[in-house]
Amino acid sequence: MTTNDTILEINNISVCFDGFYALTDVRTKVKRNTIHFFIGPNGAGKTTLLDIICAKTKPTAGTVIYYPKGKDPVRLTGMKEYKIVNEGVGRKFQVPSVFVNLSVEENMILALKDHKGILDSIFRKPSKEEMQDIHNTLKRVSLEEKAGERAGSLAHGEKQWLEIAMQLVSKPEIIMLDEPAAGMGKPETFKTGEILKDIKKDCTIIVIEHDMDFVKQAADIVTVLHEGQFLVEGNVNDVLANETVQAVYLGRGGE
Ligand code: ADP
Ligand code: MG
Repeated sequence: MTTNDTILEINNISVCFDGFYALTDVRTKVKRNTIHFFIGPNGAGKTTLLDIICAKTKPTAGTVIYYPKGKDPVRLTGMKEYKIVNEGVGRKFQVPSVFVNLSVEENMILALKDHKGILDSIFRKPSKEEMQDIHNTLKRVSLEEKAGERAGSLAHGEKQWLEIAMQLVSKPEIIMLDEPAAGMGKPETFKTGEILKDIKKDCTIIVIEHDMDFVKQAADIVTVLHEGQFLVEGNVNDVLANETVQAVYLGRGGE
């Protein structure tokens, strides 16, 4: 049964790389306007799962179905990767990928949905509404005062927030973040959590993260993966109190 508030259905996903199963029969549902964390020790298959959702990797078995608001369901498995972005599913990779020699604002202009790339951005000026939207979005990640600064001059955390903002300008229904707080100090990590909690009013957020304080701060639901398998799922306190989770994950001192 898929209820109205399900936005993503992961059905029995298995991924086999040359005989090694990175994921085995993983299934879960993601609810609309939630922050859904996937946690688990290194090698658990978290990044592979994001690769499956955005069709970067083809599963050996299983399907991922996306339920855009007010539209027919879309089967993401088997689609072309670039088409999925147009359907409203965005992905931020582990390594920041902003154009360091362009300003914060120029990076945002490049992220506009109907911009085809750098050349188009030079020849077509964004509309007044688009610029307004860019500035509102920068405000949400506390970068409005840095709009004119070179992206390369931003602090590590600010670059991550810029990338999140760049995803938001195309009005995605889902954004996926792979370890957004990696390399951040406590205050920046906390702020990232607060930013995500604000953003989830407008979209669904799928996050991979190791920092347990961050998970506790922001998670609506947590799915634990271990050695490619679904282990347990629930609210953060229940999941962290689970003995099996403690044995496989916390027992290793987190990561
Ligand atoms: P996590 O993100 O949870 O740390 P990954 O999804 O990156 O884990 O990796 C899960 C397992 O799959 C790891 O053992 C990794 O070495 C393996 N793996 C990931 N991608 C590939 C690939 N393209 N080819 C072979 N093995 C891979
Ligand atoms: Mg990973």
